[in-house]
Amino acid sequence: MDNSTSTNTKTFPFGGVNWKVVLTQSRHDPTTQKIFRTYGPYCKDSACFGMLALSEPEKTANCPLCGAKYDFDEDTATSLKTKAFTAIQAELDKKLPFIPIDSLRQPLTSEDSDEENWVRARLGYTSDGRKVVSVLVGEKQNSKKTHAFLDLDKEQLRFDWKNIKPNEIVASLEANFINAKHTITTKSQKKSQDT
Ligand SMILES: [Zn+2]
Repeated sequence: MDNSTSTNTKTFPFGGVNWKVVLTQSRHDPTTQKIFRTYGPYCKDSACFGMLALSEPEKTANCPLCGAKYDFDEDTATSLKTKAFTAIQAELDKKLPFIPIDSLRQPLTSEDSDEENWVRARLGYTSDGRKVVSVLVGEKQNSKKTHAFLDLDKEQLRFDWKNIKPNEIVASLEANFINAKHTITTKSQKKSQDT
């Protein structure tokens, strides 16, 4: 683990037992938390939290501290651990900020076009106050368009993958922030050769 991440440990209930997870968190983006390691299962009684003793073939277990018995039904302890990992990561990801680009308040909009292409840029704010620029680039002859989001506060460039990839429309795309730069280029340079 490099020094751009820090860790913290949390406990989560899942599948009728408890789990302990070590999370890594980027210092640059503290909202992004990833599970580094999952430990368990532990007794569901949080006051006990004993690590369960598994019996072969891991379908049942018991708590050596309070004596509680566990039956994992169709799961084994190992498959339940995999499910717990997925469920806990999903819970963490659900807390990530959602960018409601369609409800930006007081947007600043700019539009331009030539014979072939059109561009629409819009600057606005997310519900939690971050400055975001939405850039749409499209082709007039068909309905192809690419949609980029620039998060000015997080210095991130994202795309709406429901639309086509940016390199299918533009030869290169460069986003310059104060501390970061993102560049996307297409190797074929098809657009510039066509003209
Ligand atoms: Zn127990």
